[in-house]
Amino acid sequence: MSSKQEKLDALHKAMSKCKKCALRKGCFQVVPGSGSAQAKIMFIGEAPGGKEDEIGIPFIGSSGKFLDEMLEIIKLKRDDVYIANIVKCRPPKNRDPRRKEKEACWPWLIDQIKMIKPKLIVTLGRHSMDLFLPDQKISQAHGKAMNQEIKGIGRQTFYTLYHPFAALCNGKIRKDLIKDFKQIPKVIERIKDSTSSSRGEK
Ligand code: URA
Repeated sequence: MSSKQEKLDALHKAMSKCKKCALRKGCFQVVPGSGSAQAKIMFIGEAPGGKEDEIGIPFIGSSGKFLDEMLEIIKLKRDDVYIANIVKCRPPKNRDPRRKEKEACWPWLIDQIKMIKPKLIVTLGRHSMDLFLPDQKISQAHGKAMNQEIKGIGRQTFYTLYHPFAALCNGKIRKDLIKDFKQIPKVIERIKDSTSSSRGEK
């Protein structure tokens, strides 16, 4: 019987062979995801950029550096969390992923979520939020935890954040993002409290 980490590695390997959409032809490699199979928190961004395509790890460029800094503020490292994107292949010239591309990649994301079973999914940016919480506006939803039923997953708690790249371009967004990010430990605590009280634990 293989460990959860081995199963996750096997999933990454299967993803790396994917040719389900045209994005694969235009990129250097598939960027499946990175981090711990035991992670309580899963971050979901949009798509790999140039650096991610080159190295094969999500959020390794300037947005990723800022994400690392924010993780450090809440005393977490990359290896404590799991990081993935909506689409696993870099779109040409870093354009937004198209609906068909997101649909093609969706089953991989569902498999990742089902395997990690995170207590909390943190959506990074509008596109990631839209995928799970389609009726929200990021200017109002950022910094809020929401529980949503997702087909194939069940009930899941989401926490919506601005994308780190948006924060690198806009001082007000940067301030909001750091403030929201600092709340993550409290959000996790609240989820733990509600699951233990529903089980009758003290
Ligand atoms: N890098 C990623 O891996 N994802 C993004 O959404 C942005 C940069």
